[in-house]
Amino acid sequence: MTRLDTDASETIGRCLADQGPVARLFDAREVPLGGIRGNTVHRSLPQRQLPMVGAWCFLDRFDDDRADMRVLPHPHIGLQTVTWPVAGDIRHRDSVGSDVVVRPRQLNIMTAGRGISHSEFSIGDHSLPMSGLQLWTALPGDMLSIDPFFEQHTELPVFTSPGLAATVFVGTMGDATSDATAFTPLIGADATLQAGRTASLPLDSTFEHAVMVIEGTLDVSGVALEPGPLLYLGTGRDSLEVSTRHGSRFVLLGGTPFAEEIIMWWNFVGRTHEEIVQAREDWEEHSPRFGTVAGHGTERIPAPPLPNVRLTPRRRG
Ligand code: MN
Repeated sequence: MTRLDTDASETIGRCLADQGPVARLFDAREVPLGGIRGNTVHRSLPQRQLPMVGAWCFLDRFDDDRADMRVLPHPHIGLQTVTWPVAGDIRHRDSVGSDVVVRPRQLNIMTAGRGISHSEFSIGDHSLPMSGLQLWTALPGDMLSIDPFFEQHTELPVFTSPGLAATVFVGTMGDATSDATAFTPLIGADATLQAGRTASLPLDSTFEHAVMVIEGTLDVSGVALEPGPLLYLGTGRDSLEVSTRHGSRFVLLGGTPFAEEIIMWWNFVGRTHEEIVQAREDWEEHSPRFGTVAGHGTERIPAPPLPNVRLTPRRRG
């Protein structure tokens, strides 16, 4: 995914992660993606009061009645992209030579490091619906200059308990550990809970966590959670009880509260204004830093103009 909005407004959130267990709803906002059909995505991260959950710094849900994703080559630095289709297949091509199809319940995770570019196109019958999540993790400061790489995980571990099956795409839940590379302690899981069931998810109490429902309604921490908002749960929980009357599918995200302030602008995550300006210039000048995505000729997404102000960090309390 690429961002068309480049709102670089600074974020000074209260330090929710210091408050222990909380249950606070954050509504997603509708963000237009442009294009002929004027699609929008539902953006849950970042938010002014919740810039990150662990190293998770970006969370979009896309939900389309027709599969016509066509995201031309664009660059990334300083982050990992996690593409998590719920329905529909996506062809991913990148500047380190990957050309793969991402299918539901499979993980594509791309580590940008010092720079990578990629494209994402839907494939198959255009009458098919396509939905899913686009997530980013912020790389820690000492990993910003590593070489880019791409991983696909077609077999992911599943944590189960009666009525519950949780596919763990990053990190560990109970006895299920994903092989995906993470640079700070993280959890990402996509869980299905059967109708009429209550289950307990084992958590790392040093993490902060959040839950988003994909389908159905989930009762969690006193909240009847429906598709849409992100429920932030804070830190200090070693388990999470969830129940549902009619069945639910939901995503759990979490991680060690991220220690550094980051700057996010367009498709870049960095630490300084200068780093971001340099990355933008390198993309615009076709620097080898971002390589080439085969198969697109000269088509690519140009960087938007920088704002007239210095980019400042997203700060936590
Ligand atoms: Mn992207």
